[in-house]
Amino acid sequence: MPMNDLKPLFGDSIQEPLYIAGPCSAESREQLLTAARGVADAGVAILRAGVWKPRTKPGSFEGIGSCALDWMAEAREKYGVKIITEVATPEHLELALKAGLDGVWIGARTTTNPFATQQIADALRGVDTAVIVKNPVIPDVDLWVGAIERIYNSGVRRLAAVHRGFGTHQTTPYRNDPHWSVPIELHRRIPELIILSDPSHIGGRRDLVAQLSQQALDLGFSGLMIESHPAPDTALSDAAQQITPAELAELLKGLQLRRTPVGRDSISDYRLHIDTLDSRIIELLAERMEVARNIGEYKLKHGMAVVQHDRYNEMLSTVEMRAETVGLTKSFIHQIFRTIHEESVRQQMQLKEAEAKKM
Ligand code: PEP
Ligand code: MN
Repeated sequence: MPMNDLKPLFGDSIQEPLYIAGPCSAESREQLLTAARGVADAGVAILRAGVWKPRTKPGSFEGIGSCALDWMAEAREKYGVKIITEVATPEHLELALKAGLDGVWIGARTTTNPFATQQIADALRGVDTAVIVKNPVIPDVDLWVGAIERIYNSGVRRLAAVHRGFGTHQTTPYRNDPHWSVPIELHRRIPELIILSDPSHIGGRRDLVAQLSQQALDLGFSGLMIESHPAPDTALSDAAQQITPAELAELLKGLQLRRTPVGRDSISDYRLHIDTLDSRIIELLAERMEVARNIGEYKLKHGMAVVQHDRYNEMLSTVEMRAETVGLTKSFIHQIFRTIHEESVRQQMQLKEAEAKKM
């Protein structure tokens, strides 16, 4: 569906890259106002804070509720920031609009459910506000596009998407797998749409936020949504991934704006995508070697031989079978895994030699 008549998210006053920052959750008036001051001092014009929190397990902090909307309005008054929060139901939306928020976002769990998204879309009919649609929990671009179309169809023209990564059962260094190809495909389908990245929810760890932010800008994203809390370790939700306002300022200062976010469908985009995948492969290899070294320690402790032929053959046939199902040739995968295995063996031998020297 063409979306040629989209409007700037918050009027023309905010230039790309568009930065949104603030705590995962509003927790108290003081916490929110301190966060807002820090965010504004870091040069960020849009404050985010969760008022109603979708939590995986009952009994966790589920948001302070609508009183936080007044604190947000106070933050806007004091620090001149725009204010946005997550809405998951028409009731949330009504309260947010009544409080005069500048925009809302639809969270990943809500985008995953077309009934829930449609209810919010219906409630948005005739309302002029900024709406940001986070990606669904699963890497299904149609579901994401569908949610965006539902909101667009109800007349919203100040519309954007946020890429926050995707749930996965695989071991990755991230809380939510970035699957960069999904937002890239979203951009191909709706080139007019602003797409931001949320490195906080992708990384799940504060030490990953800076590199993910740079990666997103390199891939041509129009901006970032970053969680920032005055005292991250004490945060009532997502403590591990939040950064202080001072760290936020530092991070933003360090970002390199290497590319203009236009004309993204080019050879350099494909190359950036390849570079991103290559770093992922390297990270996975490093993780694999770490596990191999742990196995090495175990073998050493239990007096086992470094090379276990049955296990090696079983590993090779498993990866070959897996390779075929995704259209890779057996011989290609065989070669790669033989090399990987050789390196694992070399590292395990090193452990053994180091142990022998100690004795
Ligand atoms: C959030 O932004 O704090 C949040 C809950 O995000 P998501 O919907 O991406 O999990
Ligand atoms: Mn969060």
